Amino acid sequence: MSVQEEFDSWAESGKDRGMEDRHWHTAKHALARMPVEAGDRILDLGTGSGYALRALRDTHDTGRSVGLDGSAEMAHNARAYTDDPSIGFLQGDFHHLPFADDSFDHVWSMEAFYYAQEPIAVLEELRRVLRPGGTFYCAVNYFEESVHTHEWQDSISIEMLRWDRGQYREAFRTAGFAVAEQDTIPDEEVEIPPAEAFPTEQWESREAMVDRYRTWGTLLTVGVA
Ligand code: SAH
Repeated sequence: MSVQEEFDSWAESGKDRGMEDRHWHTAKHALARMPVEAGDRILDLGTGSGYALRALRDTHDTGRSVGLDGSAEMAHNARAYTDDPSIGFLQGDFHHLPFADDSFDHVWSMEAFYYAQEPIAVLEELRRVLRPGGTFYCAVNYFEESVHTHEWQDSISIEMLRWDRGQYREAFRTAGFAVAEQDTIPDEEVEIPPAEAFPTEQWESREAMVDRYRTWGTLLTVGVA
């Protein structure tokens, strides 16, 4: 299945809002670290419901910003969730960004970068569309150290990159970014039931759930163009 087909069906079944609810637990902390100033132009790579751009607009009075997604349905839904004219949504591919050089001050991406089939090429594209000194905030929940996320690949037909922390930093540098920060942000909000409740439909053991959410959570890598 293509990215478009896979994620169109997610959007049609309401998974866009479901992801927003779950990802917000850690995304809000990562977003709060972005050095965004009023008027800044933001690109949201793999925007889903577009919540990140709505939040940055509310908190920082951002300028003309764009949410790009490979799924037309995701972009269509995201458009319907805000009537703010400074935020645009469009269908497009990470590998061929339809923007001029130096078009953005910052790029945000949550739970999307690992779908890149040619990740270095995507990073080079991001560096091209960022102004010098602009940042790329790359947040992922699926990564090597978070072992209890590895099985996600079994339920999706698109090949997912499973890099470790060092591989993210190395790839950023290969594409010409300076790595300003890397951190993991635990999910403190998801409820972890008592030991007696396991196994559940989704979790073999309480330890697995603790490892996934409280130990690892979201890996954030920050590159500066
Ligand atoms: N950032 C949102 C959505 C994450 S789901 C959130 O945090 O909830 C990942 C999104 O990336 C999907 O909507 C999917 O359509 C998009 N995507 C994956 N590969 C892509 C590609 N190569 N080009 C453009 N979009 C892509």
